[in-house]
Amino acid sequence: NDCQFPVPVSPVEQDWAEHFPAFFPSDPSVAPLADDAKVRMVDVGCGFGGLLMQLSPLFPKDLMVGMELRDKVSEYVKERILASRKNHPGEFENVSCLRTNAMKYLPNYFEKGQLTKLFFLFPDPHFKAANHRRRIVTRTLLAEYAHFLQVGGTLYTVTDVPELGDWMSEACDNHPLFERLTQEELDVDPCIPLLTTATEEGQKVARNEGVRCMNVFRRISPEGL
Ligand code: SAM
Repeated sequence: NDCQFPVPVSPVEQDWAEHFPAFFPSDPSVAPLADDAKVRMVDVGCGFGGLLMQLSPLFPKDLMVGMELRDKVSEYVKERILASRKNHPGEFENVSCLRTNAMKYLPNYFEKGQLTKLFFLFPDPHFKAANHRRRIVTRTLLAEYAHFLQVGGTLYTVTDVPELGDWMSEACDNHPLFERLTQEELDVDPCIPLLTTATEEGQKVARNEGVRCMNVFRRISPEGL
């Protein structure tokens, strides 16, 4: 039930200082880790947070959040991050987790063009045709993702369900604001290896030798980049 968690009415109402205290120190004599830090990356349906933990050192000046609908799972991720901060002072300050419904509330947290990367790793497949509208990558939601991604930003998808892979691939291929990355571009992107190895679901699929369908797209302007 959505009423069980607070949602800011607009992005300016969101208190990021409580998520990223090292970037928004309450003591004015303490220098923040970066000036004007903003959330740039979102792991949508982050599960247990494995991707965030591995992304953190790759982009130490960028803030990133996992959005997770399940209360206990989001609490676990928050605890995991706090424990890692404690055990590794100065590290993992740029990652956090929000318990929220990413299909409904992105506009409450982010401004147009704010994000550089959006991740959808092993999203729920919702197999039945009647439930396809509940899938997290749909044409309607892609318009919203395009709104929050800056031009040149990246949308990453991976799944072990070929039918869902085809669905996400087709939705993005047919969307005028997204363009598929070339193999050369994928080869130099440090996030690509993490898509299949960093998360708990990715590791499970690897153990079971499941297939991985990866589709990665760039946000383009209506006229092309
Ligand atoms: N990405 C993680 C991984 O690779 O291990 C988790 C994959 S799991 C199959 C899908 C996750 O998405 C679940 O943890 C689920 O609670 C979450 N989820 C589903 N719908 C969501 C929504 N609308 N907003 C936020 N999280 C959602």
